[in-house]
Amino acid sequence: MIDPRANSSEKLTPPYPLPYVSRKALRRIPDFLEPPEHCPSCGNTVLLVNNREIYGREYGDWPYAYRCIDYRGCDSYVGLHPNTDLPLGTLADKPTREARKTYKAFFFQWQRINSWSRKQAYAWLAQHLGIPIDQCHWGFFSVAQAELAGSICEEALEQMKEVAQ
Ligand SMILES: [Zn+2]
Repeated sequence: MIDPRANSSEKLTPPYPLPYVSRKALRRIPDFLEPPEHCPSCGNTVLLVNNREIYGREYGDWPYAYRCIDYRGCDSYVGLHPNTDLPLGTLADKPTREARKTYKAFFFQWQRINSWSRKQAYAWLAQHLGIPIDQCHWGFFSVAQAELAGSICEEALEQMKEVAQ
């Protein structure tokens, strides 16, 4: 579902510190998540920050992130879709960020080998995970889901190699 603000006539007030929120950019996000208020890892408040607070310098063309207020203890954050206030996924702590990063490499390898579009690849993965396609996104996965999704793709890659031999 697209963020209803994409097609509303009300003025979009960007939350601090964003300079603006673009309706055109909102329209490009098919399965949006609401801006998070509470950290899924620890329940604390979430703040919208410039990502230099995380990386030490501004990173990317849209250098913002949602970050858990307990950044020393919890260290959960997530980036934003460019030109919007919408998160790329759920806030992730370090183990979750690492699991998503490690295991999605198998997924993109499997996508490339099959010459699939991103959408086709997610449709395949959703079917194999037995979840609705609108919930099938690396940015949404927990550590356990990322491991499972990654191992499914890794196994598919292995089977393809065996057939090729
Ligand atoms: Zn937290």
